Amino acid sequence: MPDDLDRDLAELTAVARRQEARHEPIPDLTWPGDARIAVNFTADFDAMLLRRLMNEPPMQLAKGEFGGRVGIWRLVELFDSHGVKATIFTPGRICELYPQAVLAAARSGHEIADHMWEHRVPKEPELERDHLQRSTSALERLTGRRPAGTRSHHTPSLLRELGYIYRSNGSADHRPHYLRDADGGNCLVNLPFHYAIDDAMFFSFAWLGTDTAAQRMADPERVLDLWWNAFRQQHGQGRGYLNICLHPFVSGRALRIAMLDRLIARMKEMPGVWFTTCEAVARHCLSVHPPRGGWA
Ligand SMILES: [Zn+2]
Repeated sequence: MPDDLDRDLAELTAVARRQEARHEPIPDLTWPGDARIAVNFTADFDAMLLRRLMNEPPMQLAKGEFGGRVGIWRLVELFDSHGVKATIFTPGRICELYPQAVLAAARSGHEIADHMWEHRVPKEPELERDHLQRSTSALERLTGRRPAGTRSHHTPSLLRELGYIYRSNGSADHRPHYLRDADGGNCLVNLPFHYAIDDAMFFSFAWLGTDTAAQRMADPERVLDLWWNAFRQQHGQGRGYLNICLHPFVSGRALRIAMLDRLIARMKEMPGVWFTTCEAVARHCLSVHPPRGGWA
């Protein structure tokens, strides 16, 4: 037994070292105008694609449909009413399903970024390339702007080849940082988030078909308190960062929109808050805090 444990620990240590070598923090990170915090409101516009991929029953597909028909419009209206620019991570296929919604979000000045072609990254390299190319061109064709970022686990070399500068996933750090390949190449900005600031973890009933014990139906006031406290903590510390992950089919419900409305109104009363898109944060990092190892 001790031998097994030693071997496991050695393997874990080797993995941690490899990860460490790929991860480049930005220790002196500052925000434009000496803002105390950068806030990224992000919405993963999955609609029915995630449900379909998981072979969920029709009831669940209808839930995704609500996101495309109602939720996304309510979120865009909410952000617009506060003058907040958000980032909408959109599977390419959503351009076929809900083109008006994506276009309306883009016309309001929100960033439209990639969220895979049909919400999955194929294992076969050629198919993966095909999916990312399809998604990138679909978003560009519809909005007139090539996406700069993705919320996905697409291969970094492919992302760089197609002009991507950032990704937004993982919870391995709290603030924006750089991520590289094992050989030190294909650098990308990474904008991390955490499930504690993800609406689905609180509000998604029948999330991914989980069993009853895992169903979530939290009181919006409780979530408001948690997210407000997370914001205050980062704001108080200075050089803070908050990436709030929303889903139109989850947060598009009326009482949750009302909660977000109160949350944003409170945040706006505080000084030094930079409400912006993920792309703006990534570009700021690249121009003011370029990666030490170069943009290779
Ligand atoms: Zn998604």
